[in-house]
Amino acid sequence: MSSSQAAPLRLAIIGGGVSGLSSAFYLQRQAQPGDRPLQVEIYERKSSLGGNADTVVVDQGDFVDAGGAATAFLRWADLGVNDVNLATYTEFKTVLEQIGYLDNLKPLQDTTSYFNASGALALTDDAALRDGVTDPLFSLDRADGGQLAPLIKVVHQSALNLVDQISPQYTVGQFFGDCVAKPYPMLNAAATQLHIAIDWADPALPARLGQVRDVIYYPRIAAMYFTDDRGPELLPLQSPFQYYRLQEGGVTPDRRYFEHGAQKWLEALAAYVVGGSNELVRVRIHTESEVAVQAHPGYATVQQGGREPERFDLCVMAAHADDTLALLSFGASMAQWATQVRSMLSQVNYTQGYAVCHTYAGLMPQNRNIWRTYNVLQRAPDAPSFPYRMSYVCNLHQNDPVNPEYARAGLPQFFVSLVSTLSEIPFDTMLDRVQESSRVPPHLFNALPRATQRQLNGEPLRTGYRAAADAIPHLADKAWTVFKHNVLDASCIAAQAQIYDFNQANADQLAAGQQPACALLFGGGWTVGAGLQEQCLRQSKAIAGWILPALRGALTRPQTPAANGAAAAA
Ligand SMILES: Cc1cc2nc3c(=O)[nH]c(=O)nc-3n(C[C@H](O)[C@H](O)[C@H](O)COP(=O)(O)OP(=O)(O)OC[C@H]3O[C@@H](n4cnc5c(N)ncnc54)[C@H](O)[C@@H]3O)c2cc1C
Repeated sequence: MSSSQAAPLRLAIIGGGVSGLSSAFYLQRQAQPGDRPLQVEIYERKSSLGGNADTVVVDQGDFVDAGGAATAFLRWADLGVNDVNLATYTEFKTVLEQIGYLDNLKPLQDTTSYFNASGALALTDDAALRDGVTDPLFSLDRADGGQLAPLIKVVHQSALNLVDQISPQYTVGQFFGDCVAKPYPMLNAAATQLHIAIDWADPALPARLGQVRDVIYYPRIAAMYFTDDRGPELLPLQSPFQYYRLQEGGVTPDRRYFEHGAQKWLEALAAYVVGGSNELVRVRIHTESEVAVQAHPGYATVQQGGREPERFDLCVMAAHADDTLALLSFGASMAQWATQVRSMLSQVNYTQGYAVCHTYAGLMPQNRNIWRTYNVLQRAPDAPSFPYRMSYVCNLHQNDPVNPEYARAGLPQFFVSLVSTLSEIPFDTMLDRVQESSRVPPHLFNALPRATQRQLNGEPLRTGYRAAADAIPHLADKAWTVFKHNVLDASCIAAQAQIYDFNQANADQLAAGQQPACALLFGGGWTVGAGLQEQCLRQSKAIAGWILPALRGALTRPQTPAANGAAAAA
């Protein structure tokens, strides 16, 4: 019997975010005629797809034309995932080209403002400013007699050079401590590489390096979604700098936003995989399907509510580690696997905060002239914690000059802020989530993500990470969402390495024509680096590559249910 005549290999994917959807995408792209057929079932617990993506429509007030006629000015905004760097997101770019979605990525104005609450600090990084003016008084390029900006470049390059050589135990705080204590050995190679002259004998150099740390890097790293609330200095150096390399790197970074919302591209990906189903690879997506998975020797079962468990040859876990811990159990004779997997997953810590769409200028620099796309607040050095904090000016971030709506940028500025409690934003400045489609002009409505349209049509949808349990009655209709993310600390990096070994051991077995004893593979943003969309895609591509050999020949069943790696040896 040829492979194509064999019974389909049944694969379950848990999670309808970018990781789950793209795992199906890569399998579909890579399967070849003659392969064993593949039946993929994707389970998503919410009624919307896209994981943390959450696109809302907000009301900016009435626009009154010359004749006095008023029309509501409505805008969409992303509360979850929101921008990408096409210069370094190579996999992402390819996928978007393949599904015909690349043209929907529009350039954003990549400018940053660093400020403190008192107004004593106000610096703008306007290297990528395309419209508007830089005020020399606040320009980072001119700060400290023009000496700060080149030093930042040198520090940045030094950290990037170290990223692949250091252990996760080497922290951001240690790196900056070393830079201040011994500038020449730490920084000279990068200065030479960049052809930047630094006066190593300058007695002000250590203090200037302290300024680079306190004014630029600590606030910026504290505003990264995977940071540690206890302070950016505790993060492994590799965490923010691997992120920088991808999200802000490249010869010239090419940062883009998703026109009409990030959720829309994920819906396009979902439509592509379902629409591309054929006899070789059939993909079905089940929303509103909160499932539990049980691992058995050589197979897994997926159960929804009180229904009969369904049996699968393999299961890709593409939900976050904490959700995976909650949904995964182990059958009889799988105790060793249970210990191994739970110990990997439970090393991953999570932070939680809120993304809020609002008009409250109190979170912004006092001087309006230095409002930029990304606005990063410097924390007082004695602050007890560093919760994630960043404010985006939406008219710059998702409505830039290439967008015709920008002509109306004089309309009220509004922001998306990432805050640790909703009480940081006054109630009356929080924008409403528009929930009546009749208020939305057809050209705007038709361009929105399907999940946003359904909300406008009155469906009580759960989008992003905001769950029913997060309902706060008087804020229910406001434009905010919960965001959570794994902290990219040393224990998370250790868990990622273990997950890699686990996946690789199962991949080796599949390549050898054997069914893995524990028929799970782990994907999801939390399994690779900072979980940027590019990293999610790379992991999904790897997963597809591991599964493909199982389509090219019959699998033999596992002989023993013994665990691999450390647990097997124990
Ligand atoms: C606030 C924030 C901002 C970000 N911004 C960016 C950015 O600008 N650019 C960028 O590249 N990356 C960004 N990221 C990173 C990236 O977007 C995420 O890491 C990525 O979306 C993770 O995708 P995922 O599919 O792995 O997980 P998710 O998007 O979390 O999807 C997992 C899915 O699993 C589902 N699920 C969980 N349990 C079950 C169950 N029992 N049954 C069925 N389904 C279940 C969940 O409902 C969810 O939909 C950001 C992340 C966060 C948190």
